[in-house]
Amino acid sequence: MNDDPLRALIRTIPDFPKPGIQFRDITTVLRDPAGFALAIDRMKAALAGHDVTMIAGIEARGFIFGAALAREMGLGFVPIRKKDKLPGRTIGMNYALEYGQDRIEIHDDAVGPGDRIALVDDLIATGGTAVAATQLLRSAGTDVPIAVFLVDLPDLGGAERLRAQGPIVHSLIAFEGH
Ligand code: AMP
Repeated sequence: MNDDPLRALIRTIPDFPKPGIQFRDITTVLRDPAGFALAIDRMKAALAGHDVTMIAGIEARGFIFGAALAREMGLGFVPIRKKDKLPGRTIGMNYALEYGQDRIEIHDDAVGPGDRIALVDDLIATGGTAVAATQLLRSAGTDVPIAVFLVDLPDLGGAERLRAQGPIVHSLIAFEGH
């Protein structure tokens, strides 16, 4: 597992953005053409057989992987944005942060009943963002059968938290710790 080429391409930056956090930097995957392609190929393989009709990516790094995956699969892409960024009428979902709360939004006509959406982000930690994104997409009447992440931090329990909401949760790589 440790000789996984994708894993080797992820750079760990200690104490960013604050002390104690091991930041898993995926820009080193993106700048490597074979590594970026491998990540998208593996995400595509994870979605095989799930009859997905659309990809939704979480701001900001979920846009990069999600949009590339959507293009690769011939599907549409929906950006899930932080609050007050989208120009049209939106629907949103609030979620708790360590201190305070945040909000994610989509356009109110971006998705609807009949859509089977794969949720994509670079990393799942506590799962707070992905759970809120799943609830937001479902509040628009869609199905979210699967969520795909480049990295899982299993010690933080996010994948389990998201699974409890129903989606299959697939990660390409896991890192111990925070
Ligand atoms: P969470 O809601 O706790 O699952 O946090 C997930 C979001 O925060 C993702 O969009 C990640 O990009 C970012 N994130 C959280 N922890 C890390 C980390 N250790 N390294 C890189 N990104 C992280």
